[in-house]
Amino acid sequence: GLASKLQATLKKLRNKGKLSGKDVKSALKEVKLALLEADVNYKVVKQFIKRVQERAVGHEVMESLTPGQQVIKIVNDELTELMGGNKSDLSISSKPPTIIMLVGLQGAGKTTSAAKLARFLKKKGKKPLLVAGDIYRPAAIKQLQVLGDRLDIPVFSMGDKNSPVDISKAGISKAESNGNDVVIIDTAGRLHIDEEMMDELKSIKSNVRPHEILLVVDAMTGQDAVNVAENFSESLGIDGIILTKLDGDARGGAALSIKAVTGKPIKFVGMGEKLDALESFHPDRMSSRILGMGDVLSLIEKAEASIDAKKAEELEKKIRQNEFSLEDFLEQLQQVRNMGPLDQILGMIPGVSGQLKNLQVDEKQLDRIEAIINSMTIEERKNPEIINGSRRRRIARGSGTKIQDVNRLLKQFKQTKKMMKQLNGMQKSGRKKMRFP
Ligand code: GDP
Ligand code: MG
Repeated sequence: GLASKLQATLKKLRNKGKLSGKDVKSALKEVKLALLEADVNYKVVKQFIKRVQERAVGHEVMESLTPGQQVIKIVNDELTELMGGNKSDLSISSKPPTIIMLVGLQGAGKTTSAAKLARFLKKKGKKPLLVAGDIYRPAAIKQLQVLGDRLDIPVFSMGDKNSPVDISKAGISKAESNGNDVVIIDTAGRLHIDEEMMDELKSIKSNVRPHEILLVVDAMTGQDAVNVAENFSESLGIDGIILTKLDGDARGGAALSIKAVTGKPIKFVGMGEKLDALESFHPDRMSSRILGMGDVLSLIEKAEASIDAKKAEELEKKIRQNEFSLEDFLEQLQQVRNMGPLDQILGMIPGVSGQLKNLQVDEKQLDRIEAIINSMTIEERKNPEIINGSRRRRIARGSGTKIQDVNRLLKQFKQTKKMMKQLNGMQKSGRKKMRFP
């Protein structure tokens, strides 16, 4: 599938220290093929690759990331943008009830999604009313009633002898008298788009003026879903999309193309037949799900947020000149700890999570180290050699630790410095530079 292809491609880049233009080109070629194979709209793919290429070649440099990670970040950013960037919420009317109308082809999942959405809103403290507006399929009304019963959510119906417009209007009056603050209207679909259906929907739209018209489309139909969305968007006008059956869509093409083609955001996704299987759509989460690198990506984000590039440079200089002190050590420790609990951070590093499954990071030990260094004078932090027996006792007392703890820290620090000195000897130029032709 798309995810595994992209993951394999990006994995090749991930740990590279240096990327040539050729590396990037061939990776993007693979990304392009994977997207096309996933049934993503051709124009969308072309645009996408162009943007990624421009950014990758445009030397977007983040000191704390390897070039491979940077390309992954760019691909992730652009995928997120492709799907709309930010999460798109329902518009809730300041004057209740908020009227939501679901439209779409037969079998897309309208009735199921109506019930799911009602459940979703009820959980958020709303009092929804479901309105049975599909009068053509005999079982449709019953289906909605059964779902409503199961959720303990009221369903308004007038059988199949009245027009969908009259049913919708009556449903809204009912909601007003009943104190329901959201009305969800289920409508009839057809196997294909036809004028009769569209006219009926237009008539409901102009008579009830919904706050949200949500188009329900089946992700498994791939490009067809995108074409349907384009058509509905142009003929009826829609506010957003519920993309159903994403649980069965291995390719992901519709999810990726629909916003770019129609300009309308996916607001919810259906992830199964069960009534709790409806999720708000988060472009960024979807993107990391596709890239399968949620972990790497959040690591990158955390690194961006908490590591100051300037400081990193200063530190590197100190290490080079062998001036690294306990004070720097403390600062480093604090910076890393700012990123979050250490076991989580280690778990996010590719390949590490498996190996460290059983390793418990001792946060208390880190607390002790911080406390010990905090109990030292500036002079002691800069020149640990001066820390004699009585100083050690004082530091242990001040930090609420044992003298052995102080000894251990000093010994570890000495070893670390020795190691840094050796490393310095081995690699003359410290920093890896990113280079694109
Ligand atoms: P409608 O004709 O548009 O009202 O479609 P229905 O709501 O009756 O749904 C048609 C079929 O799709 C039903 O069997 C649903 O259980 C199924 N369905 C709806 N949404 C999802 C989903 O997100 N995932 C899966 N796997 N099935 C779904
Ligand atoms: Mg239905």
